[in-house]
Amino acid sequence: MFEKEYDVIVVGAGHAGAEAAAASANLGSKTLLVTMNLQTIGQMSCNPAMGGIAKGQIVREIDALGGYSGIVSDKSAIQFKMLNKSKGPAMWSPRTQNDRMRFAEEWRMALENTPNVDFYQEMVSGLLVENGRAVGVKTSLGLDIRSRSVVLTNGTFLNGLIHIGDKQFGGGRAGEKAATGITEQLVELGFESGRMKTGTPPRVDGRSLDYSVMIPQPGDVVPEKFSYSDTKALTHQRDCYMTHTSLLVHDLLREGFDRSPMFNGRIKSLGPRYCPSIEDKINRFADKDSHQLFVEPEGWNTVEVYVNGFSTSLPEDVQYKALKSVKGFENVKFFRPGYAIEYDYFPPTQLKHTLETKLIDNLYFAGQINGTTGYEEAASQGLMAGINAHLKINDKESFILNRDEAYIGVLVDDLITKGTEEPYRMFTSRAEYRTLLRQDNADLRLTPRSYEMGLAKKDRLDKMEEKERKSNAFIEFFRETSFKPDDINPILESVDSSKVRQPDKMFKVFSRPRVTMDHMLQLEEVSAFVSENNLDREILEQAEIQVKYSGYIAKEKNNADKLQRLENIKIPKGFDYSKLKSLSYEAREKLKAIQPVTISQASRISGVSPSDISVLLVYMGR
Ligand code: FAD
Repeated sequence: MFEKEYDVIVVGAGHAGAEAAAASANLGSKTLLVTMNLQTIGQMSCNPAMGGIAKGQIVREIDALGGYSGIVSDKSAIQFKMLNKSKGPAMWSPRTQNDRMRFAEEWRMALENTPNVDFYQEMVSGLLVENGRAVGVKTSLGLDIRSRSVVLTNGTFLNGLIHIGDKQFGGGRAGEKAATGITEQLVELGFESGRMKTGTPPRVDGRSLDYSVMIPQPGDVVPEKFSYSDTKALTHQRDCYMTHTSLLVHDLLREGFDRSPMFNGRIKSLGPRYCPSIEDKINRFADKDSHQLFVEPEGWNTVEVYVNGFSTSLPEDVQYKALKSVKGFENVKFFRPGYAIEYDYFPPTQLKHTLETKLIDNLYFAGQINGTTGYEEAASQGLMAGINAHLKINDKESFILNRDEAYIGVLVDDLITKGTEEPYRMFTSRAEYRTLLRQDNADLRLTPRSYEMGLAKKDRLDKMEEKERKSNAFIEFFRETSFKPDDINPILESVDSSKVRQPDKMFKVFSRPRVTMDHMLQLEEVSAFVSENNLDREILEQAEIQVKYSGYIAKEKNNADKLQRLENIKIPKGFDYSKLKSLSYEAREKLKAIQPVTISQASRISGVSPSDISVLLVYMGR
């Protein structure tokens, strides 16, 4: 029925599990994907969208490394938007609205077409552990399946408890069973576990809505895409719509507060602060008369609609009555009510940078089980866990991304160094080097590293190298070529009423804040260079960003290099902090618990002060 021994068993086929299985299998590991329901591979539990601020950068990074999330998102997209286009390029964030059913279907097809992946549908109820090492899984039907490593990606399913008003019942997601057994065994093995909470809005029948009174939210006029590979950008798109709640809607919602599990103490765990439920919003921001709601289609052909911004666990009759008072929703029919879910997670400080647990060898955790929220956060952890599970059993060096290399590096380092007490989601503000970590250069940053490690294929590397070569040549052209004042002055006058008297290099003029590539293309030499060298939109954008932000980029690189020196000072494994009496008590306890690998990682632990770092540096002879 099964291989005698798999290289990697991945438990769960959400975003983390799907990426983990794809990565380990593509690297050559014989992989078994065990999941409770094979119909829900890559299921979007909440909103039908990928990317967005900071998350879009993560999808680009997954793609640059050779993961599938970007490709699946492109193939199932119904709308594309580059968010924050009015800000600097470090903030540009791609986002797609997706066809939920097609997204899951594309994931399943991608995995079925990946050699080395076997599938099995059942609940895993425990792990096989021998001599402190994970050697397989036990299923609820009593099967033992052996492997050399195990990746757990159980999402919101571990002892999941669903709440709608005063009703509560076990479940991992609406309509799906909760998973039991794993938490209990891991706690017995010495792991610490906790509870978190998240929620989702009702889904409604689009035929019952009056879109004529809502504000259309179309996609970009020239849609782009996530993947650096040859997926296609959309040629037509579906609109979303915006409407608003009102004081009447808020009053109707308040009528249900006494039956709300959020307010009557039944839900005890913490939910995502930045993705609050509607009852949370009207409670916390009581002075606000209205909140935005985004009405998002669930796919190309379905009439089902997702009501973004109306996440709730209030009783379904209260949800219905309140939503009927929203403009455009007067005749609304429900497909499914909103609900909240509580689930077990494992504080991620129990993990190494590879996402392997410190307690059990060859056991990896990825996704929501680590206290994160969001598809992109989960998918990127799955990718890293799948890669490292493969590398470890093949005695190869682990694959770790630094904070100045990728948002994925920031995510993993934050989780394992600082931990998280509320669902962790990525923000651009979490990255200290965000000018380096842009969505446009994820391939330049990561594809060579992934190729070297063995995951990204040669065609990806070739494409990235061509982009690098062409954009560097174009930047060099701007550095080398002089302009004539008579040619450039009409352009400058139209931009900022300025003029130049002397000939100078184009790079200098192009660096001015309001001069854009479109302006530069008005110069004959520039447009000739573009057509002679066949430069496409991506190259023009890359060259423009690198010219205009060269100062900021150089400064951040310099800062990153300085920090790298601390990164290079390793702390010996099992270092005895109790002998350093000049460390503060808090620092000593935190350092003992987290066991940082470098001085730089130690400096990021909350409670470890600069003076504690000085003590460590003195001890290490620096
Ligand atoms: P999941 O997508 O949950 O996948 C887990 C997989 O593991 C499933 O395939 C399941 O069948 C399988 N599984 C679990 N246990 C076992 C077992 N023992 N044996 C076999 N298979 C098992 N994210 C946001 O960013 N914003 C939100 O507002 C938001 N709201 C949410 C609301 C709800 C109600 C839910 C359920 C999720 C919400 N999320 C939200 C979270 C988002 O869905 C997750 O972050 C993401 O899906 C996590 O991916 P994952 O791969 O870790 O787990």
